[in-house]
Amino acid sequence: MENNKLDQGYIKKKNLHLVLKLIKTNKSISRADIVKMTNMSPTSVSRIVGNLIDLGLVRETETYSKGVGRKAILLEINLKSILTVGAYINKHIVKAGIVDFGGGILYEEKIESEIDKLSYDKIINIVCELIKKVINNSGVDESKIVGLGISLPGIIDYSTGNVLMSTQLKWKDIQLGRCVEEKLGIKTIVDNDVKVEALAESIYGVGKNIEKLALISFGRGVGSALIVGGNIFRGTTNIAGEIGHTTIDPNGALCPCGRRGCLQTFIIEDNIIAEANKVKKTNSLLEVFEYAHNGEQWAVSIIDRCLTYMCITINTVICMYNPDTVVIKGSLIKAFPDMPRLVEEKLENLTWDQLKGSFQILQSQLGSKAHIVGGATLALNTFCDFD
Ligand SMILES: [Zn+2]
Repeated sequence: MENNKLDQGYIKKKNLHLVLKLIKTNKSISRADIVKMTNMSPTSVSRIVGNLIDLGLVRETETYSKGVGRKAILLEINLKSILTVGAYINKHIVKAGIVDFGGGILYEEKIESEIDKLSYDKIINIVCELIKKVINNSGVDESKIVGLGISLPGIIDYSTGNVLMSTQLKWKDIQLGRCVEEKLGIKTIVDNDVKVEALAESIYGVGKNIEKLALISFGRGVGSALIVGGNIFRGTTNIAGEIGHTTIDPNGALCPCGRRGCLQTFIIEDNIIAEANKVKKTNSLLEVFEYAHNGEQWAVSIIDRCLTYMCITINTVICMYNPDTVVIKGSLIKAFPDMPRLVEEKLENLTWDQLKGSFQILQSQLGSKAHIVGGATLALNTFCDFD
């Protein structure tokens, strides 16, 4: 009996989330459309929509005629009904923004500085002050904010909000979630940056309606994340996807993680610039691409090797997870307009035959917005229970 009750509760909640998701993703939708799309009974759909309207999450908009004499009322999300805050920290930037119930950024601000040179107390203060400023300057109704999601590069115990390790910020065992929550009085969740980017792309970006999405980020580090059925695949300790630290050459170059020959040492921005500097004074990734574009063979060789290892990364991810879509993003993809095409061309020869044609490569739609939107989405999913 008890189990039966639990099952019914579970189904009710699942249906409510499904209806809410349909209203969120389809800008004009009627109750009748939802019946068709879900196979639920008209009575159930009316009851669920009624609940969502009572909760203030959904509202009725215009009436439209469908065929002769048939009228339907359209439904839409009440965007200002629930707000969340997303924040992002890396070695050069702290960003924070207010996100509405439809995943839109209402207001955002950022601070660019050498963040990694500061103590973690100072960084936490900067993050909290920026979030306070964003809330004040945005003019939103603060009582509508249900939570805050912070993302950063590193290994995060997302159940406690503790940063176990971030080589980029030089952090180890930092109780970030607890500190920020105490200072701001807002429920806070912390997660890895690539995981929240993948979540954002899967709900609001290029991965809408995609069932198995892998996102790979090529930039200051190399990381991946997998979204299955709208959820982040975390593994046992939230480290799933840390492909950049798989060992390629045990005697290879040192990685910032302290081990040798990690896959990312063959790819990351800093290492490409360091390699280039062996030949010619180089300050940025763009310069290396310009030298290659002008036919300087040493630069062509650096880029070509980097591309090879990027494709090895993609091939490994698709061998491990067999996703239907791979989203590639990061500073290396953005550095040069031809990069996505070059990756796809090289991948043709480096993909295992069995996997050819089983996946599509797409580029990020949200770009750098994915951090704020993803952090906010995680906060929404974690702290907002509609029952
Ligand atoms: Zn490493």
